[in-house]
Amino acid sequence: MSLIERISQVEQQVSEACRRSGRNRDEVNVVAVTKYVSAAKAAAVLDQGIQHIGENRWQTAEEKWRALGERGVWHFIGHLQTNKVKDVIGKFQYIHSLDRLSLANELEKKAAALNIRVSAFMQVNISGEATKHGLQPEQAADFLREIERFKHLNVIGLMTMAPFESSPEDTRPVFRGLRQLRDELNARAFTPEPMTELSMGMSNDFEVAIEEGATWVRLGSILVGKEED
Ligand SMILES: *Cc1c(COP(=O)(O)O)cnc(C)c1O
Repeated sequence: MSLIERISQVEQQVSEACRRSGRNRDEVNVVAVTKYVSAAKAAAVLDQGIQHIGENRWQTAEEKWRALGERGVWHFIGHLQTNKVKDVIGKFQYIHSLDRLSLANELEKKAAALNIRVSAFMQVNISGEATKHGLQPEQAADFLREIERFKHLNVIGLMTMAPFESSPEDTRPVFRGLRQLRDELNARAFTPEPMTELSMGMSNDFEVAIEEGATWVRLGSILVGKEED
């Protein structure tokens, strides 16, 4: 399939998942994950009118960002080492992997130095898999309380990764759990503004994630494909 065909097929799947769950199509944003492809392929994605670009490591993002940084809105979606914050700050408007206090401290410090505000998703390990990053759900409230004083770090929502399931339906409890956690935290008002966003759903499971309230889906293989596609 060509890139244009993949984009149109994904668009149809997103629209149908919205319709099934009574949501408006414009509640769901698509981040095109370009980590598997070159700058030329990432440029082709932007040429098709996709604005949001996701990368999971600065090392694989750097060349693409240097070529295309001005053209898109950049999302850092992978585990972020504290010593890499200096590389991504001011370049990636969204950080999807805020998962510990030391990282929040460093983001706050570097964003303050640039006099910018960074939008972040608090990553939560809903599935409890040992291999997944993220705060435990029961740590989330304390974490938000700790970082409330950080004026350059704006926690707009929660992010999670579901385990890979051969039947995507099996991921539903994970996505539902993230939405319920967000709603509970909002009810207890741990952030100055309610958290509106949920970053959840990848190629294998984004339709279920949308049905459970995703506002950002992060799509690599199904949308961007691989370099050889
Ligand atoms: C790679 C990656 C994605 C996209 O994965 P696909 O399954 O190819 O859609 C989404 N989120 C994160 C955090 C990733 O690292």
